[in-house]
Amino acid sequence: MEFTYSKFLAIWQIIILVLAGISVIAGILIFIIHKLRLSSIKDSKQKYDYLGAYDAKMIYYTIVAVSVALILFINTVYDKTVELAVIWLFVRMFIAICVGTLIIYISYLIMKFAYPTSLEKKMKKLRYKPRVNKKTGNAMKLLSEEEEDVHLDEGMQAEENVFSVDYDVWVDDETGDILIEKYPGHLIAYQCNSCGFKTMKLKKEEIISPPTEYTTGEMLKNYKCGYCGTKRSKTVKVAKLSQTESNYELPVHLHYKEEEKVNLVTLEILISTGKTKVVEFSSTKQASEFLKEFKIED
Ligand SMILES: [Zn+2]
Repeated sequence: MEFTYSKFLAIWQIIILVLAGISVIAGILIFIIHKLRLSSIKDSKQKYDYLGAYDAKMIYYTIVAVSVALILFINTVYDKTVELAVIWLFVRMFIAICVGTLIIYISYLIMKFAYPTSLEKKMKKLRYKPRVNKKTGNAMKLLSEEEEDVHLDEGMQAEENVFSVDYDVWVDDETGDILIEKYPGHLIAYQCNSCGFKTMKLKKEEIISPPTEYTTGEMLKNYKCGYCGTKRSKTVKVAKLSQTESNYELPVHLHYKEEEKVNLVTLEILISTGKTKVVEFSSTKQASEFLKEFKIED
């Protein structure tokens, strides 16, 4: 019963190939399950939430599983050379790990910094896809945000890490039924004005003046780019406390988003001192009102 190097290699070859096969299958399964789950969700809002939470993760896991399979597979090639001396077993292992790590690292960078741009496009389409009133089958219309108010959940104010929410209000013109969808502010990535990637995320919010039931409040939103580190901040109004999901009242004059066809207006003002000021608006009307009153603060 002699256990030789060549016997070891024969067993190695089989075990590693089986493991590589399992890893490929796992990768394909992750991808198929992800696509099946996505296509089984019919509701646009739920699809939006699912994409935001899992899409990049699932694709990344698929790439990792396939890369692991590749690392394993490389550990079975050139078996005749490896049989000559043990050192070649380790040389092959080293090369395999280098190749695999490089692929995993590059795909990590792509998924983290480049992929959000195309994901955001898909998600935006879902967010603004016309909703249908489940009771009547009528097409609903999205109200525009006349004032760029952010909303706070009940009790959110008391928390230290406040993250505002964005409400989309859909209205059925005929029946007056409303559908309110909630979008958490810190999950949405914006395009960075320095590097161009869609990696600008809300990092911190500070309430400057808290809203009450009767008056709006003010909040400072601090953004940071996950790629180049650029920081940006803007002040926004916080909606009155009573305007939550349960007792939302329709404004007297309905103003629909589709009447504008503009999702976002970004103004970048270059001041002669070298400073820049970037402000975002959800409509051209808001932007022009801002410009009318714009003054350079000392
Ligand atoms: Zn950036």
